[in-house]
Amino acid sequence: MARYVFITGGVVSSLGKGLASAALGALLQARGFSVRLRKLDPYLNVDPGTMSPFEHGEVFVTDDGAETDLDLGHYERFTGVSARKTDSVSSGRIYSNVLEKERRGAYLGKTIQVIPHVTNEIKDFIAVGDDEVDFMLCEIGGTVGDIEGLPFFEAIRQFAQERPRGQCIFMHLTLLPYLAASGELKTKPTQHSVKELRSIGLQPDVLVCRSEHPIPDKERAKIALFCNVRPDSVIPAYDLRSIYEAPLAYHRAGLDQAVLNAFGISPAPRPDMSRWEDVMDRLTHAEGEVRVAIVGKYVQLEDAYKSIAEALTHGGMANRVRVKAEWIDAEIFEREDPAPHLEPFHAILVPGGFGERGTEGKIRAAQFAREKGVPYLGICLGMQMAVIEAARNMAGLANAGSEEFDHEAGEKRFTPVVYHLKEWVQGNHRVERKLTDDKGGTMRLGAYSAQLTAGSKVAEVYGKTEIEERHRHRYEVDITYREALENCGLVFSGMSPDGRLPEIVEHKDHPWFIGVQFHPELKSKPFAPHPLFAGFVKAALAQSRLV
Ligand code: GLN
Repeated sequence: MARYVFITGGVVSSLGKGLASAALGALLQARGFSVRLRKLDPYLNVDPGTMSPFEHGEVFVTDDGAETDLDLGHYERFTGVSARKTDSVSSGRIYSNVLEKERRGAYLGKTIQVIPHVTNEIKDFIAVGDDEVDFMLCEIGGTVGDIEGLPFFEAIRQFAQERPRGQCIFMHLTLLPYLAASGELKTKPTQHSVKELRSIGLQPDVLVCRSEHPIPDKERAKIALFCNVRPDSVIPAYDLRSIYEAPLAYHRAGLDQAVLNAFGISPAPRPDMSRWEDVMDRLTHAEGEVRVAIVGKYVQLEDAYKSIAEALTHGGMANRVRVKAEWIDAEIFEREDPAPHLEPFHAILVPGGFGERGTEGKIRAAQFAREKGVPYLGICLGMQMAVIEAARNMAGLANAGSEEFDHEAGEKRFTPVVYHLKEWVQGNHRVERKLTDDKGGTMRLGAYSAQLTAGSKVAEVYGKTEIEERHRHRYEVDITYREALENCGLVFSGMSPDGRLPEIVEHKDHPWFIGVQFHPELKSKPFAPHPLFAGFVKAALAQSRLV
């Protein structure tokens, strides 16, 4: 049976609960324990798949094809444990399960209520895979006191009560605001937040206090006293140079020790922090800088491409160089020549995206990279745009385009070199989709394998010819055009095992131009940079020495 740490937040949102949870996972691993992290989100969307990246940041896709919260990306990047469908749940999903059971008559005519039916559904979710790991870390989204969060708080209270004593603990994150006028850190909001928690039956065992200023011992003792927490379980959390410093910083602050104490695990196994020491060494001892332009659509919100930003950092760490990524709105290139904008960069990345807006700009960015020999990495839509660019400008298909844009516009304007995929093979079964299907969860989602052509650039980058990567898309490059494109130098160097779906394209006569239909950024870790990002940054470094 797993031990459970429930992680909640108070005072304000965006305190870094996800990061603290991920760092705690890494620290428990460093002490030899196995962990799994889980996110419980109070919002009513069934999953974040249908939310705009502007709303909620990136949608993180798991191997088993779930569209989840971006915090699951943090969890994977810090622990290396691949998240599953059963690691992310929202109120929307819980209610839809409950209502579906009600329709089926599963409740035998009972009145359906938040307690016990909704809370039972939440508890069942929390306990999935209970016997697989030493520790299950469950983060509750939002802040204590939110109306939406109440069923989750009630469910974790019941859950802890039903387990043997000492099997579950509560960790609460708060903020200590600093009043410059009086030069003081204020503990009152933390006290109120804990009071709020206690009023719904939850007593925190560990308090993590975010602060921009050092927390004096006197204040720590005061928090401990007023919040009924042991003084050594009041953990200061200061701002960090990099998120990857979190495991070392939380370790120094005593977080893992406080958690083990709360469980009564003694003596605590000695931690091996070498993985994180190496990560920090690579980050802080980087030489030089490469500049990468990310030409995309959701450029105003950094979280919209969270995993790409992180994977680029990892690529930099692999090469011991700093990566300076700059976001450029693709639409600019529809009005202006991309050259003066892109010339200062050592590499160009075109990320995934949906809808036609900005795509002509992305096509021009791909053209610039191809013609000028600048390293290019096209991800999902970024690969599709590279194919359209080659079809138009090399293979003479002047009106090549994607069916996605015609569907959106409701009229046929393009020769679809990228078409809507309606059936495909996953493992050993066939999947079918219609254009009119629900929007949520109906894409080609999750891990699929691909076969790489021996001797291709991408096979060299991976160092192997069989790979498995995560997908999230509806449209697909049409192999009908393969021969015409290959004759012009755009090689289809990675294909689905049945040979029907192009997974990777590359320009033969280019130093480094690769487009991938999948999302390699989702699998990159600071301690295991993804080969495509390591290779891309290496190519950028070579380019920086040329110019
Ligand atoms: N919009 C494209 C598709 O659905 C690309 C999706 C993506 O970039 N994730 O195929």
